[in-house]
Amino acid sequence: MKDSAQAVIVGGGVVGASVLYHLAKIGWRDVLLLEKSELTSGSTWHAAGGMHTFNGEANISRLQKYTIDLYREIEKLSGQSCGLHPNGGLMLAATQGELDSVRLICSRARYLGMETEMVSLTEAHNLNPLIDTSHFIGALWRADGGHCDPAGTTHAYVKAAQQLGAQVERFTRVLSLTPRRDRSWDVLTDKGVIRAGHVVNCAGLWAREVGHMVGIELPVLAMEHHYLITEDLPELAGREREIVNTTDYSGEIYLRQERRGALIGTYEPHGVVWAPRQTPDDFTMQLLPEDFERLAPYFEVGFRHFPALGRAGIRKAVNGPFTFAPDGNPLVGPVRGVPNYWVACAVMAGFSQGGGIGLVLSRWMADNDPGQDILSMDVARFGAFATPKYTALKVPENYSRRFRLAYPNEEMPAARPVRRSPIYERLIAAGAVMGANFGLEHALWFAPEGMERTETPTYRRSEAFPVVRAECLAVRSAVGIYETTNYGKYEITGRGARAWLDRVFASRIPRPGRLALAPMLNAAGRIVGDLSIACLAEDRFLIIGSGFAEEFHLRWFSLADVPADVFVRSAASTLAGVSIAGPRSRELVQRLTRTDLAAGAFRLFQVTETAVGLTPAILTRAGFTGELGYEIWTTPDYLATLYEELRAAGADLGLTHFGGRALSSLRLEKAYGSFNKDFRPDYTPGETGLDRYIDFGKPDFTGRAAALAERTAGVRRRFVVMEVADTDVEVVGFESILKEGAAVGYVTSGAYGHCIDKSLAAGYIPAALAKDGARFEIDILGEMRTATVRLQPLYDPESVRLRG
Ligand SMILES: Cc1cc2nc3c(=O)[nH]c(=O)nc-3n(C[C@H](O)[C@H](O)[C@H](O)COP(=O)(O)OP(=O)(O)OC[C@H]3O[C@@H](n4cnc5c(N)ncnc54)[C@H](O)[C@@H]3O)c2cc1C
Repeated sequence: MKDSAQAVIVGGGVVGASVLYHLAKIGWRDVLLLEKSELTSGSTWHAAGGMHTFNGEANISRLQKYTIDLYREIEKLSGQSCGLHPNGGLMLAATQGELDSVRLICSRARYLGMETEMVSLTEAHNLNPLIDTSHFIGALWRADGGHCDPAGTTHAYVKAAQQLGAQVERFTRVLSLTPRRDRSWDVLTDKGVIRAGHVVNCAGLWAREVGHMVGIELPVLAMEHHYLITEDLPELAGREREIVNTTDYSGEIYLRQERRGALIGTYEPHGVVWAPRQTPDDFTMQLLPEDFERLAPYFEVGFRHFPALGRAGIRKAVNGPFTFAPDGNPLVGPVRGVPNYWVACAVMAGFSQGGGIGLVLSRWMADNDPGQDILSMDVARFGAFATPKYTALKVPENYSRRFRLAYPNEEMPAARPVRRSPIYERLIAAGAVMGANFGLEHALWFAPEGMERTETPTYRRSEAFPVVRAECLAVRSAVGIYETTNYGKYEITGRGARAWLDRVFASRIPRPGRLALAPMLNAAGRIVGDLSIACLAEDRFLIIGSGFAEEFHLRWFSLADVPADVFVRSAASTLAGVSIAGPRSRELVQRLTRTDLAAGAFRLFQVTETAVGLTPAILTRAGFTGELGYEIWTTPDYLATLYEELRAAGADLGLTHFGGRALSSLRLEKAYGSFNKDFRPDYTPGETGLDRYIDFGKPDFTGRAAALAERTAGVRRRFVVMEVADTDVEVVGFESILKEGAAVGYVTSGAYGHCIDKSLAAGYIPAALAKDGARFEIDILGEMRTATVRLQPLYDPESVRLRG
């Protein structure tokens, strides 16, 4: 066995094999995969091999398509068959909500260039005669997908990688990982030590243990999963083509042909966690005992919906474990504080996602950039809040909902509350309906007295619609209070802070007493952050950003060569705050502070440290509603006092609570984009419009060359807000935007603008078509709606109120 390698991959399942192939393909020939047993001896061994392109995130869908298309390439290179059955897929809807959901999938697929269409139940039955269509009201057909042979596919990746020079050592167990001073690793195996430039954790069922080797607790857990294979079905005899792989949402069943019989699996409620504390070392190519008593009621639903299966005998039953992260998406990328250690684990759909994961991870390792936005697979979407107990509560919840559709207004209850602000109980008393962001509870909307705090999960307008409307109108006409504790907050201090920030951010760094909007770019000139920087003193800065991106941004900062005279600290749990917004906000805050808030004295984007009532605070004139407004930051021990004093002082001014839903509506009325939704690492400053905050006069900042090149060359697409006509449903994201029948763009977010009485959609369209008044169509749940570009914000286009 060799004693050094540029990269060592731990684990020879489908994911490790794909990472090996992709590293070799980009030219890293000195790569070595270590497998403690035979290849495919973890969860890959007993997988059903189903593959599809469905994912709620467009980029993950694209990577799934890449994965499926890749199989022909690796078959050719390796000479090894992947055992492909490219049958396509059917998704069956039994309720209006499910029908809405498959229509949304259909709208999204157009722009992604995936062949997808709604089909009649008769056509669905032709594609899969096992369906009893009386249980369903609609069906979606997709050309992509089918199934493959798990072992064949894994071996095809490995053989293709070996042809490119990569190596594999089977029956070689990694025992420990020790970091060296030069950021390389000593990989101790049962056959000796290997010095590795990089280590990749692709240990699947053992990913948690390989995380422990470097002192991290990855939020990953395995669940038991059953499927059955029937005896031959007379209904399939003589058919020339295999039936189309079928997903039955209401039955929580998936089904496909297996030789002349069928394979049927279920994601049951109350699933069973496997190996909750420690994955057994000796679990190799093994199955778990079947538990049909528990599962019978769920398979029986399948036998009703596909009656031929109920009449057939069972040839084989499989119960095998595989891993999940708390939200069901994979964990991919580098880990903050552990240089040159990468993860590609918690992959629950290895045959749909493995190729794409290998692609982005290999680019990331080579270029420090995954090459596209993969925020929803990034391991940094979880932080310290994702403790083992959190994972143990969330993973079974996610498993039980694998085939239950997640509605955009739905909040998952498991492991809640985890993080609570000091005014949590007070907000609840005021009627708050909470969501969770990075583990922290935050108010979505406030139920008036006497109203139930529950909301029907739906793609359409819910009971909360009129309530959110009242909140929006209150902010625009009087004054509102919104808790901002769930924002991301960072303190940057030290003599070198300004110079370091100047390098890391593309914007001008404000002088003391001022705040600046601050885009942050990667080397390729793409948006990795849309934050604001407040300068409290020459050597002291407060940065505010998206709460969900806290770990993502801390990792970004840590990789940006922080010098010894700069200190970067998360203020996630040490600063709390509220936003006061509306025409009467000045009057309210002035009642509690001696700082002169008069328009000329405390202008937009001014910052000061002052007392607000009894609370020592950082006061900024800023906000996200487009109204005159202030953000007040303090330490958590003062927040309740601040909140109570503001409420008392604001009672006669009409002070009203507003939540995240109202904020989403108010910000779109002003055409403000939001990081994660509208601004992500796929987009550039010119496309987003954030170029107006870039200081191109600075000699050096990350992404400068790319941003300058874009300024010269111009942009291909542009972020716009559109007014959608004649709709009683708002867009949610990734719907296709069409011009003369062709998909030319897609939606990134939407909301109803209550104060302008218009449905709004934000998204990207070709720059050449981005003219004020230009008309497009958006496919909203199967209905084509006219969408008109509005290049000026529909509310207060001159920002008179904001500056007032
Ligand atoms: C019943 C069942 C049905 C499924 N059906 C599907 C399906 O239809 N479609 C789909 O896409 N997915 C399906 N899956 C999920 C799929 O199996 C996983 O997504 C995939 O196998 C994950 O692969 P992996 O490489 O991450 O992990 P694994 O396959 O678990 O591989 C990890 C490897 O790492 C090795 N390893 C661990 N620790 C060490 C160490 N210290 N040193 C050296 N080697 C080590 C292990 O031996 C193992 O071979 C199914 C899973 C099950 C159980």
